[in-house]
Amino acid sequence: MVTTVDPIPIEYRSLIRYNQEWQALICLKCDGHAAVGRATLGRHLHDAHGLSAKDYKPLIKALDTSGVSPLPSLDDFPNTMLGSDCCQGVQDAWTLDATEF
Ligand SMILES: [Zn+2]
Repeated sequence: MVTTVDPIPIEYRSLIRYNQEWQALICLKCDGHAAVGRATLGRHLHDAHGLSAKDYKPLIKALDTSGVSPLPSLDDFPNTMLGSDCCQGVQDAWTLDATEF
């Protein structure tokens, strides 16, 4: 049994999801549920979804205080996962996983 602690505040769960297995943040608003690196999360929410800093700041703060360590960017994936087929599989896994919620 894995204890699941969701670092995402409830009011943001329709927007962003944290995938424990991949340690990735997933944007549910993007087509195909795109993974977003921690370092680019604020910019992504601002540029892609028009959120202001005031809107997403509580989310970032909750993430930073929750003790989870989402990958800073997609460049930080382990090398073994960087083959194109692998990446597609990862993308599929994210999409599937995100869809279950
Ligand atoms: Zn997005």
